[in-house]
Amino acid sequence: LSPPRDRLRIAIQKSGRLAEPARALLASCGLSWRESRDRLFCYGETLAVDLLLVRDDDIPGLIAEGVCDLGIVGRNVLLEQAHDRERGGRPPAFREWRALGFGGCRLALAVPEDWAWEGPAQLRGKRIATSYPALLAAWLRERAVEAEVVVLSGSVEIAPRLGQADAVCDLVSTGSTLAANQLKPVATLLESEAVLAGPVQPLEDARGELADLLLRRLEGALRIRRSKLLICQASREVLPRLLPLLPDAEPPTVLRVDGGSDDIALQALCHGAVTWQRLEELKRAGARGLMVLPVEGMLS
Ligand code: ATP
Ligand code: MG
Repeated sequence: LSPPRDRLRIAIQKSGRLAEPARALLASCGLSWRESRDRLFCYGETLAVDLLLVRDDDIPGLIAEGVCDLGIVGRNVLLEQAHDRERGGRPPAFREWRALGFGGCRLALAVPEDWAWEGPAQLRGKRIATSYPALLAAWLRERAVEAEVVVLSGSVEIAPRLGQADAVCDLVSTGSTLAANQLKPVATLLESEAVLAGPVQPLEDARGELADLLLRRLEGALRIRRSKLLICQASREVLPRLLPLLPDAEPPTVLRVDGGSDDIALQALCHGAVTWQRLEELKRAGARGLMVLPVEGMLS
C-alpha cells in the first residue's frame, strides 16, 4: 500500500469544513488532478502530487503508517492523536510542518452559564464531556485537577442538558453553539487551524524534492492571501503621519493628484491584515477615500 517513491501523496478531508479550502489552497499552488471514479483518489496531472480523500481523523494515522506522505488536518486532531500515542508509549510519528491560515477555531472548556467560574479547581470530581480526551487529560493533569473525562464522538455540547456531564471541552469558533446550549467558554486549551502535517523526519528521494517545491509554493500562495493593496488620498503634508501606520507594506507609490491642489494618491502593498482599526487610524491621520483590494497574483 505504500506510495511509489517518485510521487507525493497528500491526504485531505473528503468532505467537511477543511475539504474545499484544502483543495483550493493546493490548486492555488498550481496543482491539478484527475479524479478516480470512486472519488477517493485524485491523480496529480501538473505535478506528481496525488490526493487521498479521507475522514480527517484518519490523516495522522495514514502518515504514521506511511500510506500518505503529507496531510492537511486541524491542529486539534493532530495534537490529540500525538498525545494519545505518547500516552500509549508509542514514539512520535507525525508533526505539524506548517500552519495554513484557514479552519481557525479553538478547543475550549465550557461550563453552564449559571456557574460562577473560579478556575480549574472547580472541576474537581466533575464529569467533562469531550471528543478530545488526551488533550483534556493533559490540561487537567498540568493543573493537578482530577475530573472524570466522558468521551463522546459528537454532539458534545448537549451532554450537560442530557445529564451525561457537568461541563464540556469542545471546538468553538463563534461560540453560538455553546450559547444555544446555555454554556459559556471559560478557558482555551488550544488555538487551532488547518496545518500541513508530515512525518517527523524530512522526506527523502523524489518525494522530498516535491515536498520542498510544494512548501515554497505554499509560502507564496499564503503570502498573497494575506496581502492587500491599500489605496487612499491625502494632502502631501500628512504623508509622514501615514507611513508609520503601514509598517508591513512595501515602500508605497506616491502620485500627485491632478488639479493643482497639494493632494497625493498613495498605493501600498500590505503583507499583514488590514483591519478596520487600521483604516480608522489612517483616516484619523488624514487619509481620505481609503480602499482595500485583494491581490490575485504577484510576480516580483
Ligand atoms: P470527518 O467526516 O472528516 O471526520 P468531522 O465532522 O470530524 O469530519 P469537521 O466538522 O468537518 O470534521 O471539522 C474539521 C475541522 O475543522 C476540525 O477538526 C477543526 O480543526 C476545524 N474547525 C473549524 N471551525 C470549527 C468549528 N466551529 N467546529 C468544529 N470544527 C471546526
Ligand atoms: Mg472527523
